[in-house]
Amino acid sequence: MEGFISDEFSVILNQIPENDYELEHIFQVFKQYFPMMARRNKIVSVRAIIFSPGNRVNPKGIKQEVNLYEGRKTGGVSDEIFRYDTGIGGYVEIIFGIDKCEGQDAALMGELGAVSKAFYLLYERAMAMNSLYRLTFTDGLTGIANDTQLFRYMNTIYSAGRLPEYCTDFINIKNMKLANEMFGQEMGDILLNKFANTIKNYIGDDGCIARFGGDNFGVIILEKRHRKFLNFMKKLDICLDMPDGQRVTYKVEARIGYYKIKEGDGPHDALGNSSIAARYAKRDDNPDFVRYEEHMKTQMLKMKQLEQDIGEAINNNELIIFVQPKADISGDGYRICGAEALVRWKKDGRIIPPVEFIPIAEKNGLITQVDFYVFELVCRMLKKWKDEGRTPVRVSSNFSRRHLRDDSFADNIKEIVDRYEVDTSYLEIEITESYDMDDMEALESFEKNLHKLGIQLSIDDFGSGFSSLKMIKNMVSDTIKLDKSIIDGVGDGNEGDDIMVSHIIQMIKRLGKDVIAEGVEYKHQVDFLKANGCGMIQGYLFGKPMTPDEFEKEYLEG
Ligand code: C2E
Ligand code: CA
Ligand code: CA
Repeated sequence: MEGFISDEFSVILNQIPENDYELEHIFQVFKQYFPMMARRNKIVSVRAIIFSPGNRVNPKGIKQEVNLYEGRKTGGVSDEIFRYDTGIGGYVEIIFGIDKCEGQDAALMGELGAVSKAFYLLYERAMAMNSLYRLTFTDGLTGIANDTQLFRYMNTIYSAGRLPEYCTDFINIKNMKLANEMFGQEMGDILLNKFANTIKNYIGDDGCIARFGGDNFGVIILEKRHRKFLNFMKKLDICLDMPDGQRVTYKVEARIGYYKIKEGDGPHDALGNSSIAARYAKRDDNPDFVRYEEHMKTQMLKMKQLEQDIGEAINNNELIIFVQPKADISGDGYRICGAEALVRWKKDGRIIPPVEFIPIAEKNGLITQVDFYVFELVCRMLKKWKDEGRTPVRVSSNFSRRHLRDDSFADNIKEIVDRYEVDTSYLEIEITESYDMDDMEALESFEKNLHKLGIQLSIDDFGSGFSSLKMIKNMVSDTIKLDKSIIDGVGDGNEGDDIMVSHIIQMIKRLGKDVIAEGVEYKHQVDFLKANGCGMIQGYLFGKPMTPDEFEKEYLEG
């Protein structure tokens, strides 16, 4: 009487997880081990009765019966049950049908508990594997894939030789910080979650999205769907249900670097290229969606190399200073009244100008070391002048705004000054203008610290940013340096610049500060500046930046 179910017993599982695609592991474990266990225990069928309590979709709840195992027919386990979300309070009763008629083993039959225990163990093992899987391959916050899973996914496509049918995208949410500030961190997390899952649903089976951490995501998607995907991303709104019951629609602004995968690219090349393009998309003056181009990589590699080399440049004494004279024009002609130290990088016989490496050092933070190093070179030069009996001039060095918030700044400066026994009245520090209110406050204490040491402060590049005359009065400093861009057009007959600059000069002077114009190249500029009360200039007209040796010969003889 094969197939006759002569007895039944059941176990109850309180929780069947919901998330489909991670569950393949549970099925695998069951498929592999359950038939064996079932045979040994004469189990011929397993039914599951699923109970779900009521929820919004199904207010009455569900009771549903599913055949999980039909020994002789399928020889395997139906995975349907494991795809079932019972919801909170729901459970699944699993009913084992046992064949008592086939070559009985009474002892075993009596131990139904052993079967249920084995089933539990199997289930627990599967669940453990599932959570391991979850940890390894999914992103905890959003439940979508993580980078490991994305690479796994891409590797499968790669092995099938189908990668060139796809595009990759590196996505960053531009206004995530704003969302966190507006709605709070918790809502921000929900936003990220919805954003991720909306894209995941949009992509469906045509690709994969992973979260790389923070508000960065990686996507691979069939090329034929890519254009529409970008359009979709452009318009993406996310609805948020606020704790107060309000519903808010947030327009997510994404920055995307994207790349059409070529023959021969591996998964790492493909994602790497889109992330390079994304860096370009992050630059302020670039569009939000940027397609990868080959030159971007060359430039990126060059930057990476430079970044590494700058650190070594300091250790290898490859940084040197050039010195540019400043002239007093308040009397007749020009009289040397100071100098500015400008850093240069002597690398493999070539002299690299600061525009090529200061921005990089500024970004990776090495700028603070560079600045102190330059300052030390200045102190060393002043000491040498003193030792040689020359009459020195005041020398300014440039310091990044990063130093404004550095508590040990003054101590570091003092240590260097003491080491070279420099008379601090020959020192000046230039800091670039900024109208950030926080920065202005920081600048105040910065100035106090410098003045305690007897060092002067100058605001550099004035007029190059969002200058407003009103702001000058809030700016602490001894000197204000007018940027080349605003004095370029003075004194050449064009009245607009003249009126503006003459007002700025008057204002600065009335506030009791000194004013210097930089980048002065023409005599007519000097005439104008002098007539309008600007007493100092710096620029090619009077002298270019030169080596300290040249500077000494030309300006400090005797
Ligand atoms: P900056 O502080 O505004 O320096 C003036 C720049 O204008 C210098 O370029 C100088 O060579 C150039 N210049 C001077 N007179 C003229 C002129 O008449 N015509 C023209 N066309 N240019 C003139 P440089 O030396 O290439 O320095 C560029 C920038 O690099 C500096 O601008 C400064 O912002 C930065 N920098 C240089 N050294 C340091 C340093 O030690 N630390 C930091 N943080 N930045 C530095
Ligand atoms: Ca400067
Ligand atoms: Ca400047």
